[in-house]
Amino acid sequence: MPWLMQLQRHHGATEQVATAVTTITLASMIDLHIHSTASDGTLSPGQLAVACAEAGISGAALTDHDTVAGLPEFLSACAEVGVEGIPGVELSASWYGGSLHILGLAIDASCGALIDLLHEVQLNRGRRNAGMAARLAEAGVAVSTEELAREAGGEVVGRPHFASILVRKGVCRNRREAFERWLGNNCPCYIRRFLPLPKRVIAVIHEAGGKAIVAHPFGSPQGTAPSRVRKIVRQLVGQGLDGIEAYYSDHSPLETQQALALAEEFGLLITGGSDFHGATMPGIELGRGRGELKIPDCLLRRLVPQTPGRVKV
Ligand code: AMP
Ligand code: ZN
Ligand code: FE
Ligand code: FE
Repeated sequence: MPWLMQLQRHHGATEQVATAVTTITLASMIDLHIHSTASDGTLSPGQLAVACAEAGISGAALTDHDTVAGLPEFLSACAEVGVEGIPGVELSASWYGGSLHILGLAIDASCGALIDLLHEVQLNRGRRNAGMAARLAEAGVAVSTEELAREAGGEVVGRPHFASILVRKGVCRNRREAFERWLGNNCPCYIRRFLPLPKRVIAVIHEAGGKAIVAHPFGSPQGTAPSRVRKIVRQLVGQGLDGIEAYYSDHSPLETQQALALAEEFGLLITGGSDFHGATMPGIELGRGRGELKIPDCLLRRLVPQTPGRVKV
């Protein structure tokens, strides 16, 4: 179904569709899921703001994995280039032995509960990295904390950095092999990292004044069967979930439809984002995803009804 008809179906108001039409004419786009060098993206927060302006994006949320470190730079750069910057974060939560991602949008990044949670996640990551390095050492591969920090260059240290080091040292031919032989979930050197429960993640996002949105619901490792996704969403709604990322680079048109239907069924906010990472995820463009992504910009006003510029960092 063309996306304008989707809008018509979901908003049911002709004037809103009319607004959307005007906005399309002005080529206004939004993107509420973007990563910077503060996590695993390749553009700095400031460069991202400029890239958003150049791409014709009117509103953008920086949603780095488990960190809000890029937000001050992003928001001030957004203000300079005339993009409405939304402070966000993408938090990993545990889910029956696996994980899922929850976006916190329009958060107050100075919230104590949020800072405490992020601190706890980082602290546990540090312990886990040390544990994985010890296991690699037992297997005859030395990876020091300093090497990891250097490799990460300010990013949150994780398995991707271990992988780069293993490749550079010639232990593996490529990153895929690094994950297959050493770092993957079933490998002897892998240690599961601490993940908070979704209930806590959602509560913390609420304490920070933000909206909790289930990220890429059809892109999760739990599987993409509609009944499975519905079950996850239903359970999360019971824990306070506010919204669903219906528009996403890797959602098929059918999956977008199914996500929109879930939003309607459970009375959820609808959001959308590209999950832009720069060079680490080639083929994904800001706002446009793999070329087909169109995120209606009226969704932003439902998410952040207040006038732009009011949001604290
Ligand atoms: P961590 O959060 O430290 O457990 O690392 C997770 C990251 O490692 C993911 O976001 C991916 O970028 C990367 N990753 C995990 N599994 C694989 C895999 N099998 N192949 C390549 N990259 C992977
Ligand atoms: Zn990422
Ligand atoms: Fe994610
Ligand atoms: Fe992401």
